[in-house]
Amino acid sequence: TERVLIIGAGHAGATLAGLLRQAGHPGPIELFGDELDLPYHRPPLSKKFAEGELEQWLRPMEFYQDQDITVRLGDRVVAIDRAERRVHVASGESYDYDHLVLATGARPRPLPVPGADLDGTVSLRTLADARILRKCVAERRRLAIVGGGYIGLEVAAVARANGVEVTVVEREERVLARVASPRLSEILTAHHRARGTRILTGARVVRLSGADGRVRAVVLDDGTEITSDAVLVGIGALPRDELAAAAGLRCDQGIVVDAQARTNDPHILAIGDVTRRPLGTGTLVRLESIPSAAEQARQAVATIMGDVPTAAEVPWFWSDQFDLKLKIAGLVPPLPRTVVRGDPSAGRFALFHHDNGTLIAVESANRAAEFMAGKQFIASGTRIDPARLADDTTPLRDAIL
Ligand code: FAD
Repeated sequence: TERVLIIGAGHAGATLAGLLRQAGHPGPIELFGDELDLPYHRPPLSKKFAEGELEQWLRPMEFYQDQDITVRLGDRVVAIDRAERRVHVASGESYDYDHLVLATGARPRPLPVPGADLDGTVSLRTLADARILRKCVAERRRLAIVGGGYIGLEVAAVARANGVEVTVVEREERVLARVASPRLSEILTAHHRARGTRILTGARVVRLSGADGRVRAVVLDDGTEITSDAVLVGIGALPRDELAAAAGLRCDQGIVVDAQARTNDPHILAIGDVTRRPLGTGTLVRLESIPSAAEQARQAVATIMGDVPTAAEVPWFWSDQFDLKLKIAGLVPPLPRTVVRGDPSAGRFALFHHDNGTLIAVESANRAAEFMAGKQFIASGTRIDPARLADDTTPLRDAIL
């Protein structure tokens, strides 16, 4: 019977372990994780850090026992010996494999300025980070957030709703520049500002200044000082592909895999945030989302079990900011042609991005029907009539050409 080792007990790795057993894999399944906590949901870390339950386990401990999945936590895999098909862990042991799956995720991009290591400066990836952030926000009145990405904006919304004075500092000319359409950036900026959050764009951080080892201010290149009691750094994440690179696997800003989660070694697969994979026309993209991690877990199951490959899915994810339940499907092109349906100022809208009538992405807030329909239209390459789609009184199906 074949032995499957999974490195990384995060969303992708833990999902794969369960699905693989469910699909009938008869051999040993071992999950290695360097964090101390059981695999958990990361999305609540930026949405529920102020109050409520942070520890949302993907599965209870009994699940792994019942399914005969060995979980080894608090130990790091430090080397892969591809010739011997064996991995070595920091505590000194080594383990053989028939199939190895790398699901090592990503780590926060460090802020490359002096003072970034002062106390009161946090990034947000793990449960441990979220516990620190919770304390920071409970005790402090002013929070500066470096980076107007999804994590930064989600934290901004929660902190602001809890009475914290919040300043978001974004280097680009708009928030979410890398991932959202210009229109969505504009709508979200207005939404946050209307609730009292200060958002600075085109603002470059040159250092963090402190007193007695604690952070006191974020300093910008024009000399502006943003006084703060805590600083969240949310400037993106870097793939944890060092282990794969050291083993000679093909890496290019992430482990390069195909549409079936295979690396260039037939015994090694990779899934989740650490990977770059072909989408649509074949360009390599690195997606950082739960649906993508789950999709690749299903791909890996099919590959390991020798089943027919899974069909490609439309990428999607969600974000919560104040009362806005955002759901986004497809990849927003650099210069989208956009149809607005609904009322952005009322917080209920869908932005449909199309290329000559062919829908390619939808960004929605509190419009679940538009999101669902949009996702299906993208999957099927449906052509739409922009004018009819923009008219909120016209049923969605009547906008199909
Ligand atoms: P991870 O979940 O990061 O797991 C990788 C694990 O591998 C980690 O535990 C890591 O410590 C471990 N590891 C790494 N190297 C080794 C090693 N050598 N040995 C042993 N263990 C190792 N996505 C959404 O779709 N919607 C959201 O709303 C959303 N919100 C988010 C909010 C926050 C604060 C964060 C951080 C992420 C959010 N995401 C969201 C993204 C989502 O959580 C990730 O896409 C998902 O966790 C990726 O799963 P993964 O298994 O690839 O990586």
